[in-house]
Amino acid sequence: MSAAREQAEVVACFVVSEAQWRSHDVGDRRLAFLNRCVQALAVELAQLGIPLRILHVPWFRDVPEALIALLRREQCAHLHFNAEYPLNELNRDRAVARRCSREAIGWTRHHGSVVHAPGSLTTGSGGAYSVFTPFRNRWLAALAPGMLDPLPVPGAQASGPAAVSVDWPLNVEDDCAEDWPGGERQAQRRLHDFLDAHAGDYGEQRDYPGVSGTSRLSAYLSVGALSPRQCLHALTRREPIEESSFATELIWREFYRHVVVAFPHVCRGEAFHRQYDSVRWEHAPDQLAAWQAGETGYPLVDAGMRQLRTTGWMHNRLRMVTAMFLSKHLLIDWREGERYFMQQLVDGDFAANNGGWQWSASTGTDAAPYFRIFNPASQGQRFDAKGVFTRQWVPELAAVPDKWLFEPWKAGGVTGYPSPVVEHAFARQRAIERFRGVGDAGTAGNKRA
Ligand SMILES: Cc1cc2nc3c(=O)[nH]c(=O)nc-3n(C[C@H](O)[C@H](O)[C@H](O)COP(=O)(O)OP(=O)(O)OC[C@H]3O[C@@H](n4cnc5c(N)ncnc54)[C@H](O)[C@@H]3O)c2cc1C
Repeated sequence: MSAAREQAEVVACFVVSEAQWRSHDVGDRRLAFLNRCVQALAVELAQLGIPLRILHVPWFRDVPEALIALLRREQCAHLHFNAEYPLNELNRDRAVARRCSREAIGWTRHHGSVVHAPGSLTTGSGGAYSVFTPFRNRWLAALAPGMLDPLPVPGAQASGPAAVSVDWPLNVEDDCAEDWPGGERQAQRRLHDFLDAHAGDYGEQRDYPGVSGTSRLSAYLSVGALSPRQCLHALTRREPIEESSFATELIWREFYRHVVVAFPHVCRGEAFHRQYDSVRWEHAPDQLAAWQAGETGYPLVDAGMRQLRTTGWMHNRLRMVTAMFLSKHLLIDWREGERYFMQQLVDGDFAANNGGWQWSASTGTDAAPYFRIFNPASQGQRFDAKGVFTRQWVPELAAVPDKWLFEPWKAGGVTGYPSPVVEHAFARQRAIERFRGVGDAGTAGNKRA
């Protein structure tokens, strides 16, 4: 927007592609949150005299035509747009750019959702990174002075304040408006509250689901209501980026964006390491349903899945535990879990979700090696030792003493709470054997246990 305003008077536009988004499993919560953010954006732009037009174009393939028509109607000579990186989005943007060029309309692609554009960081041999730590080192080394400075708010247009009328074409269920108010101002407030309270202890606290130690900025970052530059700029006033665990997580986010561009087969539902596409998965609809409902009999897994189903957000530790449980203990194809997460998450984001699932299923770029399988009971004892989080989400276990909380079957079970859907030692061995058949046991992976 700033770049466009430097050139001329501007008209803003947001394209809603409901049919395409639904085909990508984007869920109601994310769409409702997006709506709130677009409404808030419309108000802020209107104060600058910038009208916001909503284009409802159900499928990406029809976007170039609709955009050209709008550009003509509004007598615009140049299109500025923000890049999105999954394959279908990339192809849509390429088609838009080609069409603009054909119509002699200028266009500029911006990379506002990342610090370093995909393709701009390469290994010594010129390839793309597929391992996180060297990517992070390169990412840090490529930071140039001023790169994280926020752009100025665009100047107001001569026409004076514009009318706010957002014709939002989607009618969706919304049960998380309170937890996730929309807009950049809300995001900025959350960012600064988080940094004030937790910048110093994020590294120690971020793994404990019972502690409110993470930023809960993911939904804002995923829809572009907040940028990683804004986060990192605010962070640099408190601690050096190279030493910050919070910055490292933002770099993970960026890593997965670079991965989807460099290795587009992951956008076609394929494993990053293609040999894992021949893993023989179990067809177990009842177990999949138990996992989705938070009824597996493993308290930490169930607590996480119930948090997701009820609130649309899940703590990162639990995303790893529940994803590994589905893909290893139940040996259900990780793509089933990836899809379910997208449908439920308010922060559903293709690159981060696919990266997280492929990490957990050991099929990904820098994944957990297949033989390192979280034991859900020990994960509970380690990351929710007092059971604060687990008892909140699995109230059936409220009276179970800490000692048995994560293995209630050892105390003879609990009335009203299911027995484990699968036995840990058996499941672990079965997964290792199934993966060993196709995998390369030597993969070093990145340890997050
Ligand atoms: C199986 C699985 C699925 C996931 N699906 C998504 C998803 O759909 N959308 C999403 O935004 N994140 C996803 N993540 C990453 C991570 O769990 C969430 O970003 C994080 O829990 C959001 O909470 P927060 O904002 O409090 O994070 P914080 O801990 O405060 O981190 C700050 C920001 O860094 C980014 N981030 C943090 N951890 C990761 C990570 N491991 N990978 C990529 N980016 C990260 C997020 O943008 C986050 O908001 C997934 C992880 C796994 C293991």
